Amino acid sequence: MVLDSIARIVKPMTVAFKHMFSTPVTVKYPYEKIVNTTGEYYRYDPKAGIAYPGFKGRHILYLDKCTGCSLCDIACQNIAEAIIMVYGFNITLKLSKEFMESFKKGEKTAVDFVEKLTETLYMPRREDRVNSHPVPDVAWTDFRAIQAVEDGYVWKLNAEPVYAYRSEAVVESYLHNFMRWLKTAGWVDEVVEVQGADKEDEHHMISREGHKIILSIVKIDEKLAHNKKSYFPAVDYSRCVFCGLCVDACPFYALEMMPDYEIAAMDRRSLLYSPKALAKPGVSTAPAEIGWFDKLVMALRGW
Ligand code: SF4
Ligand code: SF4
Repeated sequence: MVLDSIARIVKPMTVAFKHMFSTPVTVKYPYEKIVNTTGEYYRYDPKAGIAYPGFKGRHILYLDKCTGCSLCDIACQNIAEAIIMVYGFNITLKLSKEFMESFKKGEKTAVDFVEKLTETLYMPRREDRVNSHPVPDVAWTDFRAIQAVEDGYVWKLNAEPVYAYRSEAVVESYLHNFMRWLKTAGWVDEVVEVQGADKEDEHHMISREGHKIILSIVKIDEKLAHNKKSYFPAVDYSRCVFCGLCVDACPFYALEMMPDYEIAAMDRRSLLYSPKALAKPGVSTAPAEIGWFDKLVMALRGW
């Protein structure tokens, strides 16, 4: 009885002691990377009806194969609603020569317009609501991007495409504060034209004191043979559960999942991947700099 009790204490202690000198099976992430078994992408062959085993990390989108059919979006709707079908947009202002002269002279109406526009574009976005997709940051141009054209000036506001499912979503997400200021400052904003098969483009006439400015939100044509509408999926990784059903649903071999699991971010906006971001492989963040203590611990562990 006594011997039995001693054995019950000694046996686990022996096992623990042995493990002190053996190489651990755990890894010290993020300094050590988790080795993916095959490095294979998760993909699905719709013709053969076969899914190929691979790591279900972040997606990769082949823009030249995507037709904009939305089947990936439909597949995700009952899972996580992580996919949004989007167009890329350019936002431009058409300014008259008179407006520019007024601006150069430092007249308040023109100067306020330019200053307020620049300020509101760079303002932090409105709080991302829990039930909506986040509004990603966009790189904007400043007043130096303005270009003279035949009958005035054109200012392309965005330095990179702005992705949204409609032009009104672009206004709501990026120009909301500016439009609100326009009204309080006595400008008249009128939608003068809505164009496109899905009414995706819109043009506004903004006027005050004889100044007339055209604001245009126009879909970018990517000129792709298989995707005439330039309509692509974007993935919100704050919702995605990495199930892979969107990959299974794609009939055109346009979507796969990569062994890339390092997509953590400090804010939700960075987790919404535009089609252009999905098309770029390898966005993993570099591991944090390793300190002397961690180096010592790893040396002791026989790494
Ligand atoms: S992997 Fe993500 S995006 Fe695709 S269906 Fe599953 S939840 Fe939706
Ligand atoms: S990724 Fe595939 S399923 Fe999704 S829109 Fe493009 S072609 Fe259609």
